[in-house]
Amino acid sequence: MRTVINHGFLIDPGNGVHAKWNIAIEKGKVAEISTDPLDGDVEIDASGLVVSPGFIDVHMHEDPFVADEGKFQISIFESELQMGVTTAIGGNCGIGTMDPKVYLDAADQIGLPVNVGLLVPHESLRLQAGVDNRYETASMIQIEKMKYLATDYLMAGCLGISFGIRYIPGITELELMEISSTAQKYSAIIAAHLRNDADHVMKSAEELMKIGRELDLPVQFSHMNSMAGFGQMEMFLQWMDQQTREGFDVAADCYPYEAFSTFIGTATYDDGFLERYQVGYEAIEVAEGPYRGERLTEELYHFLRDTAPKTLTIAHVMKGEDVEKAILHPEVMIASDGLINGRQGHPRAAGTFPRVLGEYVRKRRLMTLYQAINKMTAMPARRFGIKKGTLEKGADADITLFNPDAIEDKATFKDSLALPVGIKGVWVKGQLALWDGSIMQAHGGKSVR
Ligand SMILES: [Zn+2]
Repeated sequence: MRTVINHGFLIDPGNGVHAKWNIAIEKGKVAEISTDPLDGDVEIDASGLVVSPGFIDVHMHEDPFVADEGKFQISIFESELQMGVTTAIGGNCGIGTMDPKVYLDAADQIGLPVNVGLLVPHESLRLQAGVDNRYETASMIQIEKMKYLATDYLMAGCLGISFGIRYIPGITELELMEISSTAQKYSAIIAAHLRNDADHVMKSAEELMKIGRELDLPVQFSHMNSMAGFGQMEMFLQWMDQQTREGFDVAADCYPYEAFSTFIGTATYDDGFLERYQVGYEAIEVAEGPYRGERLTEELYHFLRDTAPKTLTIAHVMKGEDVEKAILHPEVMIASDGLINGRQGHPRAAGTFPRVLGEYVRKRRLMTLYQAINKMTAMPARRFGIKKGTLEKGADADITLFNPDAIEDKATFKDSLALPVGIKGVWVKGQLALWDGSIMQAHGGKSVR
């Protein structure tokens, strides 16, 4: 079957395309691109719409695969598709599936709403090596076991290694260096949620950078708004530029919100967090459970930490100007950091990409559509070494069709999964996966290795 998308405006920054071109899809690939309208079995009239490579979300938290039942528990992958994302990369912040090999194979066998790539989640390595206390230092034997596993997962097609240094205070420089060294053979990326944020962010960034420098690996600073969004962004970005000038391969990602989300029991909320973010308890909103929607008081903070540490919270603590600076920086790509897993939480999982296109591009004119699409397609694809994010002849037909005059995120902290508007259609590997908000095909996505 041949599908043609005629009369749309094609924006494909990876190929430098910004023109009214028509496109044909056949057998999962881009079959033809032409200035003349094309013929096909199915014709889509894309007048007034933008035709873009499907968006790539390089930082999200994948839905779980339940091996016993042989199936995925799908929630976030559907939200990704509804945002116009066609490829999502999980395993971030060092957290993720216990066995990426099994996960990626299952994705190929069963199929998912979007294509899925994985980073090797460091925490999974640690647990499998028998280091179950996050404050504990791993022994050399345990580190060797982790390296063996990491190599195995990289060989199976994982795109890099991710660390959640913040969540595992026991990680030493030796552990970071040794585990990262397994990525050298593949020139794979190392990504991290840094050890600390706010006034401690530069020291933490330097800790990761040192590994990248010594091992000559690409370094990705994860969700920088939530790391340096408290008045440190300018300093961080200048420092990152300096690393680039010195010849190192660095970049970052960011989601377009001034609030982050994490569990009340994590180290993020250890003593001193109010001083670090220069806020009061009321800046933190409870996102689930009986206190959902309420702001913290000192009393509620202690109560939840003691009795329900796995309660998800929303911390309204970042500076708008810092988030803006990060999003606009040429080496920062858009990524959601979305996390659902059946829970209500932060709107970023359902709003990130439409929010950048609606808020930053159309309403506030902070960047062009072309720049924004680059940060969602070609730039992340190149960064993570995947053959995605462009629409030349022969490329995978992962395509997002949207209305640039209407696109807007609708997800809020109250209704965190509300569908965006303005996404007209999404094709995953040439199959129509979403049309006018309805999921047409939920199994077209495969592993990306
Ligand atoms: Zn993180």
